[in-house]
Amino acid sequence: MKIAFIGLGNMGGGMAANLVKAGHEVNAFDLSEEALATARDNGCTPFTDAAEAVMGVEAVVTMLPNGQIVKSVYEGSVIGKAPDGAVFVDCSTIDVATARDVIIRSIDAGYDMVDAPVSGGIAAANGGTLTFMVGGTDTAFRRAEAVLNAMGKAVIHAGDAGAGQTAKICNNMLLAISMIGTAEAMKMAEKLGLDPQKFYEISSQSSGYCWSLNAYTPMPGVGVESPADKDYQGGFATGLMLKDLRLAMEAAQTADASIPLGRHAGELYEQFAKDNAGLDFSAIIKTL
Ligand code: NAD
Repeated sequence: MKIAFIGLGNMGGGMAANLVKAGHEVNAFDLSEEALATARDNGCTPFTDAAEAVMGVEAVVTMLPNGQIVKSVYEGSVIGKAPDGAVFVDCSTIDVATARDVIIRSIDAGYDMVDAPVSGGIAAANGGTLTFMVGGTDTAFRRAEAVLNAMGKAVIHAGDAGAGQTAKICNNMLLAISMIGTAEAMKMAEKLGLDPQKFYEISSQSSGYCWSLNAYTPMPGVGVESPADKDYQGGFATGLMLKDLRLAMEAAQTADASIPLGRHAGELYEQFAKDNAGLDFSAIIKTL
């Protein structure tokens, strides 16, 4: 299939390369010359104009920093420029309202479109093992799935337009809360004189079992190997977690949802990100 890929950063670079590996012909566009050069090395055809990159393609995939940029790229360079009937797949993490708005505008212009944010970081993007949570009609989902399969291990239809973004921010809010809870419990066990490794062995097989403890232990030298063992380098950056928490708080307000713990987690990450935005989000244990 001929696909245009816009946004070849930390995530999009590897994703576009995986589309090429799967046999697709990929037109690549990014504002960064360096990202475009890497895309060319990975077998993509580089373009210096997004509207030219989408000409003649069957699908457009975007992986961009925020909702404002997604809206301006679709309105300025994709809608009305890509061939009639093409399918659009936005994999960026953005606010639910903008995701729905861009999908409605695309459908009105005769295209199919889904929001398809991802779970999994740069390693999963490079390795083709992302999980995609997809919002859109059944037809749009089926068409997007054919493209997404080349970049991920799971592609899940979450519901109508915007449902992918909803799943993503609710999941990441839960992750932030559970990471802070795990960190608090581990530090408290230590302060009370319990060997943290013993606490890990017990709690990871008891009702404290959760992904933050079992698969991403935030204390160095304890539990499974994780970013904590590499000085909190790599992994999922605190700045990106804060971005997702802000989106969650915004969405909660529009839906009148009560999120006292989500809000508190947001405040703690807001504070922590001031000097530590580049560290893995599990480094929040250092504040305890
Ligand atoms: P990034 O900043 O590395 O990449 C974004 C790319 O978009 C950059 O190369 C930038 O030059 C390009 N860009 C910006 N404006 C553009 C425009 N108008 N036209 C074309 N290109 C433009 O970010 P990333 O880490 O790759 O994240 C991308 C998206 O994926 C974000 O929405 C992020 O929240 C989400 N995400 C990231 C991770 C992660 O671990 N990095 C994990 C899950 C989801």
